Amino acid sequence: MDAAIQCENLTKRYVTGKKVVDAVNGLDLVVAYGECFGLLGPNGAGKTTTVEILEGLREKTSGTVNVLGRQWGSGDDSLLRQQIGITLQETKLEEKLTVLETLRMFRSFYAEGLQAERAMKLVSLEEKADSWVRDLSGGQKQRLAVASALVGDPKLLFLDEPTTGLDPQARRQLWDVVNDLKAAGTTILLTTHYMDEAEKLCDRVAIVDHGKIIELGTPRELITRMGGEHIIVFEAKENGGDTVTPEAFENLPSVTTVTREEQGILLTVTEPHVAIPELMDFLRRSDIAMSSLTTRHANLEDVFVTLTGRHLSDE
Ligand code: ADP
Repeated sequence: MDAAIQCENLTKRYVTGKKVVDAVNGLDLVVAYGECFGLLGPNGAGKTTTVEILEGLREKTSGTVNVLGRQWGSGDDSLLRQQIGITLQETKLEEKLTVLETLRMFRSFYAEGLQAERAMKLVSLEEKADSWVRDLSGGQKQRLAVASALVGDPKLLFLDEPTTGLDPQARRQLWDVVNDLKAAGTTILLTTHYMDEAEKLCDRVAIVDHGKIIELGTPRELITRMGGEHIIVFEAKENGGDTVTPEAFENLPSVTTVTREEQGILLTVTEPHVAIPELMDFLRRSDIAMSSLTTRHANLEDVFVTLTGRHLSDE
């Protein structure tokens, strides 16, 4: 089998007294080797339950789960455990160990792996080698947690909400770490509810809701599938001084709609690389001066809202 993770028709039912929750409800997933795969979804969608089953921390109710070609509970769990790295949303590290001591301790859990110093370098914490954990910032602690998951040189790394609660700079530093790991070929399964994070880091994403995958693809594919075209906004005046009417642009290639908005004329286009040169040509030919132009496109948050009518954020 040539996938790092494969699960079919996965279910997990929690029964608490009379309360029954189908947290995972027939979930199919294939994560290829070398891929950074994102599980996205609102609170309660079943992401953590799914990830915990994949990590071997929780029993499934039914379905098949294959991780690195093995199945949990079939006798070689410790072998599988040696090949995966797990970073939880929050990791309680020993406050009175230094960064290097922490990594050496985690390294001792694995038969094979990286030198502690190497793992420390991967997350750029060399300067903090001798600092106590309790003196690290939130972002540094989270990078140390990632390094602790890396000392075993995992084939597969689980990152559960890795940047939740971090400030923007610390988030970006952690993104750099993840991008370096991707470049080195590590397979990563990431959960997040930050759409910018998913768009920046993930090769493919699955949107999970009510224990099922409701949409799957590259971030770009999902946005395109939604019909989320690109937007071009520009301001222009005819050189005689007259304001340009929006209708003038309706027949340009790739333009689907034209409206006038407060910020200028807004074109919805399917292919900006086609529309923009045509627009520039048209303006030149028509002796119309452009004073500003911006482009933007729909994002994953828009995809999620379109699919579910809800936002991904915690609130
Ligand atoms: P997510 O990680 O997407 O927020 P979870 O997997 O944590 O989703 O939760 C999915 C559903 O299962 C929720 O309705 C949650 O309340 C329920 N749930 C999670 N863990 C337990 C548990 N140990 N016992 C009972 N219900 C649970």
